[in-house]
Amino acid sequence: MTTSSVRSRHNAKGQGQWALGHTEPLNPNEQQKKDDNPLNVRARIENIYAHRGFASIDPADLRGRFRWWGLYTQRKPGFDGTHTGVMEPEDLEDEFFMLRVRIDGGQLSVEQLRAIAEISRLYGRDTADITDRQNIQLHWIRVEDVPDIWRRLEEVGLSTQEACGDCPRVVLGSPVAGVSADELIDATPAIDEITSRFIGDQSLSNLPRKYKSGISWLPDLPYETNDLSFLGAVHPIHGPGYDVWVGGGLSTNPMLAKRLGTWVSLEDVPDVWHAVTQLFRDYGFRRLRTRARLKFLVADWGIERFREVLENEYLKRKLDDLDEPAVAPALIDHVGVHRQADGRYFVGAAPVVGRVTGTVLHQVAELAARHGSDRVRTTPGQKLLILDIAESDVDAIVEGLRELGLHADPSPWRRGTMACTGIEFCKLALVDTKERARETVLQLEKRVPDMDTPLAIHVNGCPNACARTQTADIGLKGQLVLVDGKRVEGFQVHLGGGHALHAGLGRKLRGHKVAATELADYVERLSRRYLDERTDGEVFAA
Ligand code: SF4
Repeated sequence: MTTSSVRSRHNAKGQGQWALGHTEPLNPNEQQKKDDNPLNVRARIENIYAHRGFASIDPADLRGRFRWWGLYTQRKPGFDGTHTGVMEPEDLEDEFFMLRVRIDGGQLSVEQLRAIAEISRLYGRDTADITDRQNIQLHWIRVEDVPDIWRRLEEVGLSTQEACGDCPRVVLGSPVAGVSADELIDATPAIDEITSRFIGDQSLSNLPRKYKSGISWLPDLPYETNDLSFLGAVHPIHGPGYDVWVGGGLSTNPMLAKRLGTWVSLEDVPDVWHAVTQLFRDYGFRRLRTRARLKFLVADWGIERFREVLENEYLKRKLDDLDEPAVAPALIDHVGVHRQADGRYFVGAAPVVGRVTGTVLHQVAELAARHGSDRVRTTPGQKLLILDIAESDVDAIVEGLRELGLHADPSPWRRGTMACTGIEFCKLALVDTKERARETVLQLEKRVPDMDTPLAIHVNGCPNACARTQTADIGLKGQLVLVDGKRVEGFQVHLGGGHALHAGLGRKLRGHKVAATELADYVERLSRRYLDERTDGEVFAA
């Protein structure tokens, strides 16, 4: 397609693409972002709202710009899923906030983990969830306490800036970057450069929609579901570098990212990241929020056109071609005890669905420090790693973690199950997720102890798919279902999604719904059938 035909089509549609001259806001979100750069809300939080309290907060800040600093209002307790979508969001809104701490690359020092744990215990009623984007999320935060929380985080080099909102979110990275024996390049310098150059840059803080990226040598990130991913690949002439993927995203119009067909060196990753981000800012569709993610632009243009605009208008040079590299059989989750390249070890442990507490995080920090480690990692599978352990200390670390409910040798059920925030705190949720998933894991551990491979079971509270509904073996999308004429919590089931070699979106079978109270029974039946009927080496997604 030529440049002029693309332009005329979009001019006719008026999708709010800035690069085509459509700079007038076409919806209230765009208007709010234009009225005042969302990052500016920090000064109002520090100077006004923290002193005058929740009632003083301008609604445009509360429900819009606060997100750019990692703050969302929590769901008011006592309102079940029948209220979601019926009541106005503000009626479901509590005076407390969820606070997301961004952890780029999932990299934490012991001091940083201690700081998060302390904040959780002081201000967050001891709550803490490891998210499937390597962040740690706290709850029950009051606006009055936010300035002190920022001070404590920033003293140790952490931040909540752009942890949410229409901006570059946390940059995912391999939890074992720099220590893995299988890694050819450590992406950490590129992640550090991106966060220091571009996070908080007001020229990138008004994107059409959220923007998720990741960089890893290993296939240990859900690279097909990011807006932009750099995945390790060897070029036949230039050697190790990265294969570039664009346009992934799930939610209600799920799409897997596509290869750009290019090779990028480690040194060039930040500039290519910047160029793709600018392209999204300028050409992304801003008319409808439901069609604003980068995936819609990639789908509309096609990869060839996307690459052409990226090279000609932003990078001003051609990228190197890269034929399709070999695809890994599955994503790596790093659970267990593994030898590092330097001969020491790392231990990956599984909480149930990412739920921990400030107290547990504090104890993990003390455990790591006691055994000479200063590095802890979070993973996109809601797991936690301690790095740099001497061989003589491995058993003590494994046992110490187990005492905290963090298992380095978890059951396949515990290992493969993830859950989003759900109705406990999320205003968009229709159903409970964390507790339902926890109960289901405990039930399945008793009922199907012979399961010998982790099944990815992703429990989501609504269609937004924060816990990647469609790329699970068993993806569960929260909704109200009819049982004996009554609307009760339940799930639409998506079966057979996957990543890497088995990348694909789960099949949504018509009428294939399960009541939440029946979830363990349902998964038990399904897993028994899989165990009984699988042929040699057959994975669930097949
Ligand atoms: Fe909330 Fe829905 Fe996301 Fe779960 S999937 S955290 S319920 S928006």
